[in-house]
Amino acid sequence: MLGLMQSQPLLISSLIEFAERHHGDGEIVSRRVEGDIHRYTWRDVARRAKQVARSLDGMSLLFSDRVATLAWNGYRHLELYFGVSGSGRVLHTINPRLHPDQIAWIANHAEDQVLCFDLTFLPLVQAIHAKCPTIKSYVALCDADRLPKDSGIPGLMAYESWIGGQPTDYDWPKFDENSASSMCYTSGTTGNPKAALYSHRSTLLHAYAAALPDVMCLSARDSVLPVVPMFHVNAWGIPYSAALTGCKLVFPGASLDGKSVYELIEAEKVTYAAGVPTVWQMLLGHMKPAGLRFSTLRRTVIGGSACPPAMINAFQEDYGVEVLHAWGMTEMSPLGTLCTLKNKHLDMAPDERMKIRLKQGRAIFGVDMKIVGDDGKEQPWDGKAYGDLLVKGPWVVREYFKGEGGDPLEYQNGVGWFPTGDVATIDPDGYMQITDRSKDVIKSGGEWISSIDIENIAMAHPAVQMAACVGMPHPKWDERPIVAVVKKPGTNVTREELLDFFKGKTVAKWQIPDDIVFVDAIPLGATGKMLKTRLREQLKDYKLP
Ligand code: ADP
Repeated sequence: MLGLMQSQPLLISSLIEFAERHHGDGEIVSRRVEGDIHRYTWRDVARRAKQVARSLDGMSLLFSDRVATLAWNGYRHLELYFGVSGSGRVLHTINPRLHPDQIAWIANHAEDQVLCFDLTFLPLVQAIHAKCPTIKSYVALCDADRLPKDSGIPGLMAYESWIGGQPTDYDWPKFDENSASSMCYTSGTTGNPKAALYSHRSTLLHAYAAALPDVMCLSARDSVLPVVPMFHVNAWGIPYSAALTGCKLVFPGASLDGKSVYELIEAEKVTYAAGVPTVWQMLLGHMKPAGLRFSTLRRTVIGGSACPPAMINAFQEDYGVEVLHAWGMTEMSPLGTLCTLKNKHLDMAPDERMKIRLKQGRAIFGVDMKIVGDDGKEQPWDGKAYGDLLVKGPWVVREYFKGEGGDPLEYQNGVGWFPTGDVATIDPDGYMQITDRSKDVIKSGGEWISSIDIENIAMAHPAVQMAACVGMPHPKWDERPIVAVVKKPGTNVTREELLDFFKGKTVAKWQIPDDIVFVDAIPLGATGKMLKTRLREQLKDYKLP
């Protein structure tokens, strides 16, 4: 017997419809790339998202066609979030911090049809458009009078002209909630970047879960600042959860320095902010010497990299701001665990409580997790045994876009566990702690660097016999890459020559290693694989320049 309740597909359009109807006057504030502050309401977002949808219909874009963005956190980007997905197309947010060749590769792989970009990224679009044959239309996120003349980009339109003439009413189409809604490529895997393809259903379930009290605890009374970029796993899903709760949204645009972020928090009475540790380091670095205080900020969610204890202490003890340490991945929409305490922890001594706060946290309903040993056997939840961390749930990827990775059948049958590439312990209370990473990537300032790409470039140098790239702890960027190099016999290459060799290659400037360390040999395992953990141990006394 089936239940007798109404069956409505969970669609992203319902979020913006809800925000328009019930929180129409709720504020959205954005620092624009032009530098000024823009204000409007959820009602305006909804109207303009409908204009976006109509413009896409007018271009005859098909269901599931991809519309890409290269944009900061701002109101026009938010309109695209709802207008593109709500009308049945797929929003593809591209990370502008990648090398132009990587961006072109991603746009081609996704077969993007339209690219909307902030003017900051004009030079980037000028560099790649000739390499992106699938993109038919380019839209600059600006007013008509700011549209650059002679940009060389064919048919470039200003966003305001593109949507401007469209009526502000639109009947959002109804379709299967499992349809694709947005996509995000991650370089946090081996090989080429891979895309997580989110669905309307996965996005809505994630939005509900993210708003829960023991997760982000969002309400209509909050003023929320996502510093985490909208090109990075949909800003951890905050735009969707914000529409679901009707909270105020505050967007920092391109100004992520400590002073700008602090001023925005104070001016807009921000109660809740989200970002990676690097951003908060810049904020605290600005506040401390100037003796500044927060007047409204109550909570901050910190994730993407392990949150250092000093940061938790500084926020909590010096500023009275609760830190929520979070763990997740692009492949998980992204939320997996959040570190909020249970009742039994409240009376603990502060240093005991800190030990828990440093963990990545406990699973959110909707994410199941387990740790397994090399033999695939599940490890106990004793807080000591560690193993590969596997996850499953309705907002975890089943397979990557275009069938790369994963066994679709296994996942469809409900037995598939997604391997996160993280190594962790889980304690008897279910608190997970990351102890290592089995995937061969380095995370610097919340962004990925592929050690394989770095090694391939180093190996192309005629004097290099073997190269191994590893991440070294860094106070600001969390990790920075260095390369251990074995020279070919009889050659005499220098550190400077090798570092120079990376310039002009297919890696972004910030992905170039900080140092080259010459070694006699790189430790290898039985199958000839480089043993990076052993190498990191050997380099434990090494200090970055
Ligand atoms: P995001 O940065 O939004 O979490 P990514 O897909 O870019 O998403 O990165 C996911 C990876 O980042 C995880 O598999 C893990 O290696 C690392 N990571 C994320 N959050 C944490 C955290 N709190 N502590 C340690 N590592 C983390």
